[in-house]
Amino acid sequence: MKDFTDTGLARDGGSPVRTAPLPTVNNASGRTFGEDELELLREVIESGQLNHTVTSHGKVQQFAEGFAEWLGMPHAVACSSGTAALHLAVAAIDPNPGDEIIVTPISDFGSVIPILAQNAVPVFADVLPDTWCIDPEQIRAQITDRTRAIMIVHLFGQPCDMDAIMAIADDHGIPVIEDCCQAYGTTWRGQRAGTFGTIGCFSLQQSKHISTGDGGIAVTNDPLFARRMTLFADKAWPRDTNSREHQFLGLNYRMTELQGAVSLAQLPKLDGVIAARQRWGNALTERIADWPGVSMPELPPSSASTFWLFPINVDPEVAGNVSELAAALNAEGIGGSAGYVTPMYLNPVLTEGRTYGTSHFPFDSPYTSRRFQDYTLNLCPVAESMKQRAITLAINERYTQRDVDDIAQAVNKVFAAFAKRS
Ligand SMILES: *Cc1c(COP(=O)(O)O)cnc(C)c1O
Repeated sequence: MKDFTDTGLARDGGSPVRTAPLPTVNNASGRTFGEDELELLREVIESGQLNHTVTSHGKVQQFAEGFAEWLGMPHAVACSSGTAALHLAVAAIDPNPGDEIIVTPISDFGSVIPILAQNAVPVFADVLPDTWCIDPEQIRAQITDRTRAIMIVHLFGQPCDMDAIMAIADDHGIPVIEDCCQAYGTTWRGQRAGTFGTIGCFSLQQSKHISTGDGGIAVTNDPLFARRMTLFADKAWPRDTNSREHQFLGLNYRMTELQGAVSLAQLPKLDGVIAARQRWGNALTERIADWPGVSMPELPPSSASTFWLFPINVDPEVAGNVSELAAALNAEGIGGSAGYVTPMYLNPVLTEGRTYGTSHFPFDSPYTSRRFQDYTLNLCPVAESMKQRAITLAINERYTQRDVDDIAQAVNKVFAAFAKRS
């Protein structure tokens, strides 16, 4: 193997560690689509029934049943995206306008949209400085008599502290929505993400562990929530009762049989995808040397990430500027990005209250004393520091040993060069 101290950084004209592209979730190189998906798609096309509702018993239904069984949950409702799955969850809990839902600031915006879409108010609880998952003590600090739910995100495939979160939720009798879009198979002290809270939500978008391009699924132990989610995803139309009486305001979030075919073919591959991602994620953790100012999150016993992404925690004072580090990693040919996302409350949807017409609803209304003007910098300092402290690397189930060797070598080469300069 090449000695990474030999050659200068590719950024400065040295030779890059890696020239061939790595497998990526953006195309076939890093996805598990193949003959199984094609076969089930053919069956759907030939059947002539591409649509799924509560009265049909096709691929969507089989996928939902199979997924529920995989997770050991009694009910699963498939839908059109991860955002839709989270919207099913919020709508099942059915907040009043202006009710509050506590949520993490670091996530895909799909975690916030359903809260606002149901006219509830997102209340942000800061994250922990090692994993960037929501901080249970910050949840506790944000609870008011208007809190209707807590939405937590198992970020990058790492588990949140579910003992602390469920203890707080149980103390106050508040339901928990687990956003597991990045966390298929993630475990906290031996128990799987999605099985702790009231409702667990998963995405089947292009970049997730399993995918149907776009798709989602929500799981629950509660038959009433399951029924309400099923109805909400189909205009609250109880087709299975022969009634055309729309039970409440719902949407069309139906998953099609085409998506059902692909997700049903993906499901048996999920355990393999998880095992491969864990293998490569753990290998990378071991291979990255102990550079000053660089750390990787540590989890308690029997708790495991399934590595949607691979986060590295950098002290910029010691190890270097994360944007420059990420640029140097990219020049070595292994990708890598700085920061992940700005805290969700800094998006104009919230900072400017761009919701419904010019009303700013539910802000500026009798339904809440909360103001959109309060979504400002310094709301969650730890989340905001992530931009200066986080580097994320892609992990992929199709990596080979060679790919992981190259990534480790490039990371060590870049951290070594930056360490030498300081
Ligand atoms: C992907 C993702 C979502 C949204 O899923 P879509 O299928 O893109 O709507 C929500 N939350 C998290 C944490 C995600 O990673």
